[in-house]
Amino acid sequence: MLSVIIPAYNEENCIMPAYTTIHSLLTENDITCEIIFIDDGSQDRTFDMISELSLKTENVVGLHFSRNFGKESAISAGLAAARGECAVVIDCDLQHPPEKIVEMYRLWEQGYEIVEGIKKERGQEKKMHSMGAKLFYSVISRMAGFDMANSSDFKLLDRKVVDVLNKMPERGFFRAISYWVGYNKTSVSYNVRERVAGESKWSTCGLIRYAFSNITSYSTAPMQIVTVLGVIMLVLSVILGVWALVDKIASRALEGMTTVIVITIFIGSIIMISLGIIGYYIARLYEEVKGRPKYIISSTVRSSKNKMV
Ligand code: UDP
Ligand code: MG
Repeated sequence: MLSVIIPAYNEENCIMPAYTTIHSLLTENDITCEIIFIDDGSQDRTFDMISELSLKTENVVGLHFSRNFGKESAISAGLAAARGECAVVIDCDLQHPPEKIVEMYRLWEQGYEIVEGIKKERGQEKKMHSMGAKLFYSVISRMAGFDMANSSDFKLLDRKVVDVLNKMPERGFFRAISYWVGYNKTSVSYNVRERVAGESKWSTCGLIRYAFSNITSYSTAPMQIVTVLGVIMLVLSVILGVWALVDKIASRALEGMTTVIVITIFIGSIIMISLGIIGYYIARLYEEVKGRPKYIISSTVRSSKNKMV
């Protein structure tokens, strides 16, 4: 059985089209499936739609979060609930072409343990958004040490991989973690489609925040940059110090206050940025140490034939 994991946040108009398209496609191709919708604390009728669907169908599971925890948490909840021999994560808005699930499934049957969806084009996204996404991935790829520019959350994972991911306690970044675990991988490429309904939940600001939090969870490079900056400043200060001493000995006192002011401001700002970066890591440590759950499920619905577990 294939578990289809669909995170949904304020997607009342996407639930039905997503279910119908994916379900009929998989049935046509003789793939048995369960469809798990994770309602990430939507304010609209998303969960009502999922509940209705679970009454009318045989293979729907719906989880409702107590508030919005973010797509990463929704994916974690989906993976924890999945009971299939393999699981695929797909967006609710059908921007990931569902036909590709069949292609991914066939590759899984051939023995691949992770089948990644690789974006060919980013579709019709806003210019700022696609620029933001490009910048985000080029920075994070460099820092995390692998190319993530065209990767997405559209992936099919074998049961083994799902079990490994379920055991990981950290708040991860699905794309990066599923790369980190290794395994026998392959990919299929796809073109990003237009949304069937609704709007993207990402603002440029949100994307930047997301980028920063993910860079800091996968890399300590920002802290190392601070060390490198410190060394550069030390070298500069030695040079300036020697220069000042030579001037002093030759009775040519250093000219004016400007140099002093510029250096003070520069050092001050570097120190503040450095403290900020270190503070960010401490905040992340604090988050992990508290050990709060990644999400809280406030209600669950299941199609009746699915009720035994
Ligand atoms: N999503 C979610 N929680 C959030 C934001 C988004 O579960 O806080 C879901 C959303 O419902 C969709 C998927 O994640 O199924 C991708 O979101 P969106 O289409 O807004 O992102 P984009 O495609 O623009 O990257
Ligand atoms: Mg989308």
